[in-house]
Amino acid sequence: MTFPAPLVVRRPEGLYCPQGRFFIDPWRPVDRAILTHGHADHARAGHGHALCAARGLAVLRQRLGDDQSLEGLKFGERLRLNDVWISLHPASHVLGASQVLIESVSPQAHAAERWLVSGDYRVQNDPSCDAFEPVKADVFISETTFGLPIYRWPPVTQELVALLDWWQTCRDEGRAVVVYTYALGKAQRLLLALLNHAPLPGPLFVHASVARMNEAYRQSGIALPELPSPPAMLEPGAMVLAPMAVQGSGWMQRQKPIPAEAMVSGWMLVRGHRRRHAGVRGFVISDHADWPGLLWAVDQTEASRIILTHGQTSTMARYLREKGCHVQTLETEFDAQSADV
Ligand SMILES: [Zn+2]
Repeated sequence: MTFPAPLVVRRPEGLYCPQGRFFIDPWRPVDRAILTHGHADHARAGHGHALCAARGLAVLRQRLGDDQSLEGLKFGERLRLNDVWISLHPASHVLGASQVLIESVSPQAHAAERWLVSGDYRVQNDPSCDAFEPVKADVFISETTFGLPIYRWPPVTQELVALLDWWQTCRDEGRAVVVYTYALGKAQRLLLALLNHAPLPGPLFVHASVARMNEAYRQSGIALPELPSPPAMLEPGAMVLAPMAVQGSGWMQRQKPIPAEAMVSGWMLVRGHRRRHAGVRGFVISDHADWPGLLWAVDQTEASRIILTHGQTSTMARYLREKGCHVQTLETEFDAQSADV
């Protein structure tokens, strides 16, 4: 089988569109980059010019600093970049996360192919982000962070109720709680969900890195209240949302009694991961698609070719091939396990 010239190829700097002369989430500094979202393994500073979803501008600005030339494009708006049209479509995941649709301008040369690059995505929606938008394409480049059949997320409300019960129990025992969460996306999603359940068992505090992202969300129109930084000594029943780096810090060790700890992550479904975080209670809420979610998203594109990348590609590739799909895999340098869960 032969195909038209690919609209996306892998270069040492990252995924590249030769006809449009831009990279998507490049790993190294380039002239022109489209950044799908603000997580550190996708959004790096130092590019000549960067484009992102308008909805993600404040988040990206917070992450990349004022020196990065950065422009926002509204979801669904088409922009001509050299020999292609591009448009960005909500990927849910975190605020402003986009799927990138690339359409060739010259139908004779490329048979007017439409290539869709997923970025990181989540098909489960919530009020902290724009809802995931299914997009039709000829070729779909999909992340597969959780591309194994064992990854099936429990209902979010079930995990939230368990988290609130645990918090209440800790309060009854005279302990504060520290919940480890990624500062961008998960923290805001969790805060909105928790505040929906008021009255809460105790006061809520946020680590400075979470507070900075909350501010970026507020600037982007998401109604998050301003929450205080944790005091030097936590009172019983208090909850702090903080990144994993806070575990074992001097501040944690000075608390009396030692706060109960929890982690909110899709990886907490995995026994090996839970074992690595012994003593830390796990709640399974993920900002990525699970196995059924990935298959649903692939199906929605109606793509004739699927290119799997970024995670557990081989099992999903085999599964889709058995269903008759044309599937390739592509290595990238994203590191979802450590970066954004
Ligand atoms: Zn991400």
